[in-house]
Formats: sequence, structure tokens, C-alpha cells
Amino acid sequence: MKTLIIGGGIAGSSLAFALRRAGREAVVAEARGSQRDTGGAFLYLAPNGVNALAAIGLGDAPAAAGGFEAYGLDFHNARGRKIAELAGEQDLARYGARGVVLRRARLHAEVAQRAQAAGATFLFNARLVELRTVPQGVEAVFADGRTLIADAVIGADGIWSTVRRLTWPEAPRPSYTGMVDCGSWTEVDLPDTARQQMYFGHRAFFGYTVNDKVAYWFTNVPRHDEPGRYELADLDQGDWIASIRRLHELDPAPVQAILNAARHTLGAWPLYDMPTVDAWHDEGVCLVGDAAHAVSPSTGQGASLAIEDAAVLARWMQHETRPGAAFAGFTEERKVRTEKIACFGRQLGDRKVSSAAGNVFRDLTLPMFLRMGAKATAEQYGYRVPTPPALRAPREKAHE
Ligand SMILES: Cc1cc2nc3c(=O)[nH]c(=O)nc-3n(C[C@H](O)[C@H](O)[C@H](O)COP(=O)(O)OP(=O)(O)OC[C@H]3O[C@@H](n4cnc5c(N)ncnc54)[C@H](O)[C@@H]3O)c2cc1C
Repeated sequence: MKTLIIGGGIAGSSLAFALRRAGREAVVAEARGSQRDTGGAFLYLAPNGVNALAAIGLGDAPAAAGGFEAYGLDFHNARGRKIAELAGEQDLARYGARGVVLRRARLHAEVAQRAQAAGATFLFNARLVELRTVPQGVEAVFADGRTLIADAVIGADGIWSTVRRLTWPEAPRPSYTGMVDCGSWTEVDLPDTARQQMYFGHRAFFGYTVNDKVAYWFTNVPRHDEPGRYELADLDQGDWIASIRRLHELDPAPVQAILNAARHTLGAWPLYDMPTVDAWHDEGVCLVGDAAHAVSPSTGQGASLAIEDAAVLARWMQHETRPGAAFAGFTEERKVRTEKIACFGRQLGDRKVSSAAGNVFRDLTLPMFLRMGAKATAEQYGYRVPTPPALRAPREKAHE
């Protein structure tokens, strides 16, 4: 089965690697110019994501990409008082792995290089614009006129998926949440934090982790109207960072210290809510990662779910000869889990919006909300990609 993967982000690159390990051909078509050109700042890979990487044979990738461990969360109110926590000290014993903070581009490059070394082909400057069903399978047409025919096409092309739009034109579109995320890493004179530190500031939410005198920080800037597609690409960094300092000028000392040291952000990303996508597959096309189920960044689960998808889909494609059958098995196995996390993410996102009246209520109810959230977190972190025998058992039984 020749598989064409559209998108070389974390979902596409992990899938390419996992398919090669499963003895399948994999070609990745990526719109960007090179693997280095990935942008983004940093991300938190949760224990389930680290375990999913290990399940496909990339257990050492987070460390090779320069990641450092982070476990647990402390939540503070706008005056700096700690109002809730999510302990993470037992994560290793409980889940078999700790979460890791990574520079996004380094993780992408590491996984993509491993996929290439395992025999996957990566095509760059390959922006998909059209998909056609042909007698030999599915034909992909790229913006520069190139075409490719494959038995199966996987849409790993993110929240704005072209594969989704071309295959299911009626599928929902992402809706803007009223917040723009931005962040960076900045040298600071603050102690290391094993736990991620979260602040419900006076006007906006702020989070950071310090490792070896470098703060990895982000803020959610409220902005009512949806920014134009390229509007945030060329921000004047001096003006932008000054406006972020003003946004947090009343907030506690560590927030001020980090922003005073920061000279720029590594980008600004409008945050979107992705409604549930009903159709993930047909006979020749399947969606994975954010293309299928973009969960809120507040969950810290998007990349981990994308890697889990890759591990699960590669296993189905190894054991099924017909792409449609593999896709159906994959979809059935993944839908409930991803939808549950998407729903949890919407509740978290709502709590980050600041208003003077709402903040008092939120601060009072947050510990209770987090106690309920701890159960959801345990389910998220505790998931292990099932091994092939566990999957095959019921099918073999059915044939007996
Ligand atoms: C601000 C922010 C912070 C986040 N923080 C975290 C975090 O801390 N932890 C976490 O787990 N998740 C986080 N996420 C979510 C995480 O980034 C995504 O869930 C994850 O990147 C999904 O991976 P993906 O490969 O499915 O999609 P993407 O990373 O979006 O990759 C899609 C790829 O497809 C390519 N592409 C798009 N269209 C085409 C086309 N037509 N033809 C060819 N190629 C195409 C793109 O160039 C891109 O390389 C965050 C998201 C945001 C926005």
C-alpha cells in the first residue's frame, strides 16, 4: 500500500516513521520550504505523548530534541496567591513517563529526520490543491502542477486541513475564540520550576516554566475581532512586546520579570475552536491529528494526540490490506477519546477569559474544577497505545 501523507507536522512525520517501521511505503508532501522552516515556539508533550513516541520506536526523540521534563501545574490568582495545583511528582510512577517541554521546531526536525532515515520520502514546497479519485487510487494535485497517485491519502495538514475541505466540503470550519496566543523563551534570573506556573492575571492568562535560567512563557492576549490571515506575521516586535507588558503591568513579580527581560515573541497565533468533525475517512482518504480533531492548546494534548493517532493508524494499516478498512478501524478506536479531550479543552479555555466579576467566582471554584480535572488528566496521561495482539484478539476470535 503506497501512502501519501499531506502535511509534515508532528502527525505526518510520526505517521511516516511508524509506517516505515511497519514495512509500508510513505511519502510526505509538505507545503513549507524545508523541515527547518517549522516556526512555532515551544510545546508541552504530555506523558501519553512521550509514551506514544516510545511505542513507535522514538522514545529517545524528546531528549535528542533538547526537551526537559516538567510535571505538575501551580495556578495563581492575579495577586500571586496560589489557588490550586495539579501535582505531577508521581507522574513517572503512575504513567511510566513525565511530560517534556520542547522547542517545537526541534521536535519536528528530529522526528522528520528519523522518518527520512527509515526510508520515508519528504517533498517540500508541495502544497496540495486538489484530490481526484482515479482507477489506481487517489491522485493529489499540488500548487506547482505536480501530481502523485497513491493507494491511500492521509490528511495530516492541521486545523485548516485542505484534505478535509476537498473531501468533505460541508465539514465545519474552526471558529475564532477571541484570544491570540504568543510566547517565547527568554533568559531570566529566576529559579528552575519543575511544575508549570500558571497565572490568571488581571487582564490575561500567563504561563511559564523555567529551566536552566531560561523561561519558556506564553500569554493569551484577548482580541475581540479575528485577525486577518497574515496580519500577525509581521508585527513590530518593539510595539508588540510593549503592549504585552502593559497587558500584564498589574500582575505578580515573576510575570513582570519575564516580560521585562523579553525582547520579542516567536510569533502570534489566533486561537480557534474546532467543532466536532463527523467524517474522518472514506475508502481512500483519512484525517489524523489536528485535521481530524484540533483540541484547545489549553489541554496541552494536541501534539500527544497526533502522535497517538500515528501509532494507531500505522498499526491498522499494517494489518489491513484495504485502506478503507484500516481507516474505519482507526476512526472507531480514536473518536471517543479525542472528542472527550476536545470537550474538556473548551471548558478550560472558557476559564482563561478575564473579567473583574468573573475572576472572583473563578478563583473560588477553580480548586473544585481542578479536582474534577485531575480525573480527566489521569485518563489523558494514562492512555497507552494498544499493542497489536490486543487489537487482533477479538478479530481472530470472530473467525474461530
Ligand atoms: C499557540 C498554540 C500552542 C500549543 N501548545 C501545545 C502544547 O503545549 N502541547 C500540545 O500537545 N499541543 C499544543 N498545541 C497544539 C499542537 O500544536 C497541535 O495539536 C499539533 O501541532 C497538531 O499537529 P499536526 O501535525 O496535526 O498539525 P500541524 O502541526 O498544524 O501540521 C500540519 C502541517 O501540514 C502542512 N500543510 C498545511 N496545509 C497543507 C497543504 N495544503 N499541503 C501540504 N502541506 C500542508 C503545514 O505546513 C504543517 O506543516 C498548541 C497549538 C497552538 C496553536
